[in-house]
Amino acid sequence: MISLLRFAMTHIQFQQGPIRPPSEANSLLIRTTQGCPWNKCKFCTLFEGMEFAIRPVEDIKRDIWAARTFYKNRQFKSCFLQDGDSFAMETDDLLDVLNTLKEAFPELTQISSYGRAQTMTKKSPAEMQAICDAGLNMLYCGMESGSLEVLKLMKKGITPKSILKSAQYAKQAGMKMMTFIILGLGGKALSDDHVAQTAQLLNQIDPDEIRILSLAVKPGTGLDDMVQNGQFTPLTEREMLVEQYQLISQLNGINSNYGNYHGINLLMELNGQFPHDKEAFLRTIDHFMMMNKNDQNNFILGRRTHHYATLNDMNNTLMYDTVQQQLMRIEQQKLGDLEDIFYSLRQRMI
Ligand code: SF4
Repeated sequence: MISLLRFAMTHIQFQQGPIRPPSEANSLLIRTTQGCPWNKCKFCTLFEGMEFAIRPVEDIKRDIWAARTFYKNRQFKSCFLQDGDSFAMETDDLLDVLNTLKEAFPELTQISSYGRAQTMTKKSPAEMQAICDAGLNMLYCGMESGSLEVLKLMKKGITPKSILKSAQYAKQAGMKMMTFIILGLGGKALSDDHVAQTAQLLNQIDPDEIRILSLAVKPGTGLDDMVQNGQFTPLTEREMLVEQYQLISQLNGINSNYGNYHGINLLMELNGQFPHDKEAFLRTIDHFMMMNKNDQNNFILGRRTHHYATLNDMNNTLMYDTVQQQLMRIEQQKLGDLEDIFYSLRQRMI
């Protein structure tokens, strides 16, 4: 997710919220809601201090036409509805907004939104169908985990049951679905359950796209408190890769596109299509795991200091030696425990 400034111009004005998925970088952004209707997840500060509100339909429609005037020479293929949950709107209001959007931007082929499972399951299948038919044909789902225990621990406010039900509604209506999973979200204690239940739920849903994120604990969050007082033990970089290996191994019978596009992930080359690339994903993780400890540390440090993008970059001897010098300096000058340094470098990336 990327921060955006509230958008205002001298004579044409329309609102923009603080976030959008990275894949919506070139999309038209229209704000239907402000903030998140839940806003309690232990790891999240996205909408900290922002009270959730559904924007008045007339304001949204005014924004759509203002955007049309502002982007008069620009054609958009896609539009993302900000902020946290457009499905919180009354169905008729959402349909009104979608119809206006298609009228103002007839070239749009994709309209997308975040949708919370608990909100979407309040809509009937017929309402979901009408919403999809009106153009909202892509859903971003922050599932994070398929484990009830992990979801409870993180105060996600959703259950595997509601995730499955909302996904079925969305898919039956014809919506495409991108599902986000957070590696390490169960910590050490719930790692096995996190992997097993997440794989099981993804196998049931078979989302169009799965996007992997690696947990980095934001300072000041409830999760950070849990780490500080010993209630949550985060996974190391290597342990998160083991989790990912197990997750991939247990994903069966799906046709999802699978991606590690976010820079917070260690192996950004793990991108492809299930089931075709499953074995190649596992081989890539195996390759890392079979490297000696020094090279593993060299790669992790190189990733976290932006020297490397993929494992292949270690073949660049100049880059490898630069990272190796940093690694030796940390070890010789006893600058701290290497795992702690990796942890805080990861924190700085969010
Ligand atoms: S539902 Fe999403 S946006 Fe809302 S608090 Fe949880 S993670 Fe943050």
